[in-house]
Amino acid sequence: MYFHYMNIGNLEKILEKEPAYRLRQAKSAVFGDLIENWEEATVLPQALRKKLGEDCPLQIRAKVLLSKEKTAKAVLTLNDGLKIESVLLRHKDNRNTICVSSQAGCPLGCQFCLTGQMGFKRNLEYFEIVEQVLFFARLLKKPFDTAQGRVTNIVFMGMGEPFLNHDNVIKAIKVLNDKDGFNLGSRHFSISTVGITEGIEKLSKENLQVNLAISLHAPDDELREKIMPINKKYPLRKIMEAVKNYIEKTKRRVMFEYIMIEDVNDSEEQAKKLAELLKGISLSFVNLISYNPTGIFKPSLPERIKIFKEILEKNGISATQRYRFGQDIRAACGQLGVC
Ligand code: SF4
Repeated sequence: MYFHYMNIGNLEKILEKEPAYRLRQAKSAVFGDLIENWEEATVLPQALRKKLGEDCPLQIRAKVLLSKEKTAKAVLTLNDGLKIESVLLRHKDNRNTICVSSQAGCPLGCQFCLTGQMGFKRNLEYFEIVEQVLFFARLLKKPFDTAQGRVTNIVFMGMGEPFLNHDNVIKAIKVLNDKDGFNLGSRHFSISTVGITEGIEKLSKENLQVNLAISLHAPDDELREKIMPINKKYPLRKIMEAVKNYIEKTKRRVMFEYIMIEDVNDSEEQAKKLAELLKGISLSFVNLISYNPTGIFKPSLPERIKIFKEILEKNGISATQRYRFGQDIRAACGQLGVC
């Protein structure tokens, strides 16, 4: 069954025979004024608005769940009926981060992740990634809950592995970065990967100032292979080499994400091993994330996380701890999975 919802992938094609300023006007209406219907774009002639309404619809079909902790999760239905999830994280300092999905499902099957357990459906088109951002940008413009605002950061940490859909991810970033449109600076984007080394290398050549994060979650290959099967193809040695080359080329800082799972990866010995692994990587830091239960494992106790962090710091590794958002609506890291 096919629906007739947002498809801005057609925009440039529909306007290719029009004068160039029409595309600029249309982009400014969709990404700047955040219109939800072409009839609102009164700067465009009526006939063109009608054509755009038919071939480039702007309606987004989504269900939104609000959490107690100022987090919102959206379940979007795509034109082929598939469902994907995105999350809005609202920070105390007025920043609004959107966590977007790059694939419907994920083929990588990490043990601690709900998305991984639901299997892989397909890669998202670039405009389906953009649509997730537009949905929340529109929501933030309206009186929503108590505050209003705009999207300030976009992280590719939702469903899927971004570097398995590299071209659509980069195109979505370029569309959202466009000065004539959404105009979000490239430093406000972050891509999180399990360590697809070809993707890391390709990103270093893109000349885009986006942030890179590596989902590490284990300090040695033996454990990492158990909880993240993709480690067989991309072992730690290969990933570290790619990260070093990336830093050398871009001079940009890399974040290593480490989900703290009780009695799996949170011992003092594992903290020392992690410090050893990251010793030679100068421009980097570790972000410790308390595990969000999805049924298999338990989160580490706060005391364990504290000791783990202290060991890293004692060994010269910078470490931060991320607060858990949106657990009550299953919007937290590793909890996305609807389809
Ligand atoms: S953690 Fe990321 S890469 Fe691993 S299964 Fe989940 S979505 Fe896929």
